[in-house]
Amino acid sequence: MLSIKGLHAKVEEKDILQGLDIEINPGEVHAIMGPNGSGKSTLGNVLSGRPGYEATGGSVLFKGQDLLELDTEERAREGIFLAFQYPVEIPGVSNMEFLKVAVDAKRKHAGLPELSAVEFMKLARETSKRVDLDASFLKRGVNEGFSGGEKKRNEIMQMMLLEPDLCILDETDSGLDIDALQVVADGVNSMRDGKRSFIVVTHYQRLLDYIVPDYVHVLAGGRIVKSGTKELALELEAKGYGWLENGEG
Ligand code: ADP
Ligand code: MG
Ligand code: MG
Repeated sequence: MLSIKGLHAKVEEKDILQGLDIEINPGEVHAIMGPNGSGKSTLGNVLSGRPGYEATGGSVLFKGQDLLELDTEERAREGIFLAFQYPVEIPGVSNMEFLKVAVDAKRKHAGLPELSAVEFMKLARETSKRVDLDASFLKRGVNEGFSGGEKKRNEIMQMMLLEPDLCILDETDSGLDIDALQVVADGVNSMRDGKRSFIVVTHYQRLLDYIVPDYVHVLAGGRIVKSGTKELALELEAKGYGWLENGEG
C-alpha cells in the first residue's frame, strides 16, 4: 500500500523529516507516536501533498506509484485521505454540497456516474447516522459553528463517503470526550476491511484501546526510532520518550 524509504522533508527551509522509513501493507493500522515537534503532522502533510511541505529526498510509493509526483488533488483521487489537520469553515457552502462534490470527483475518477441529488441524500443520511451526527448538519455550512467533536464526526463521515485506500488520522483524540472518541473509533473500526490501511497519529495510548493498531512506531527527530506492536504504546506510556531519544532504542 505505502512504502516510504529514507524520506527527507523540509518546511519553511527547516529540515524536519530526516530519513524516515515505513512499510504499510493493505489492511494494516499503524499508530505513530512521539514527542511534540518530532514531525508527525509533517509526515501526514507531506503524504497528502499539502503546499509548503516539500519532500527533499527518499521515495514514497503508494499502490506502486510515485506519490511525490502527484499533486494534492491527484493524491486524494488516488485514495489518500488526511483527517483533522485543517478542518476549514466554509460559510455559505453547505456540508451536503461540499461532500457531494468530493464524492462525485472520486466516482468520476473511478469511472462511475455522478450520484443524483436523491441518491446522495440517502447515502449521506445513512452515513451521518453511523457517526451519530444529526442529519441537520448536512444542511449547515461546512464546519460552521461545529464543536470540536462534531467536526471530527463530520470528517469521519466524509472519510466513510470517500472510501479512501489510506486514511491518515492526525490527533484524532485531541479535544474529544469519551463518547465522541468511541464514535470516531467505531467509525474507523467499521472501515477496517482487510484492504484499507490507516495511519493513526496520537499522543495518547488511550485511543489505541479503541483503535487497536497492528504496529506502533515512535517518531523522534524526524525518523522512526522504534517500532513494535501495541504493547509498545503501553511501554511508552509508562516510560515516556526520553529513553528512545537518548539512542537506547
Ligand atoms: P508533531 O506533529 O510531531 O508535533 P510537527 O510535524 O507539527 O510535529 O512539527 C515538526 C517541526 O516542524 C516543528 O519544529 C514545527 O515547528 C515545524 N513546522 C511544522 N509545520 C510548520 C510550518 N507550517 N511552518 C513552520 N514550521 C513548521
Ligand atoms: Mg504537535
Ligand atoms: Mg502534530
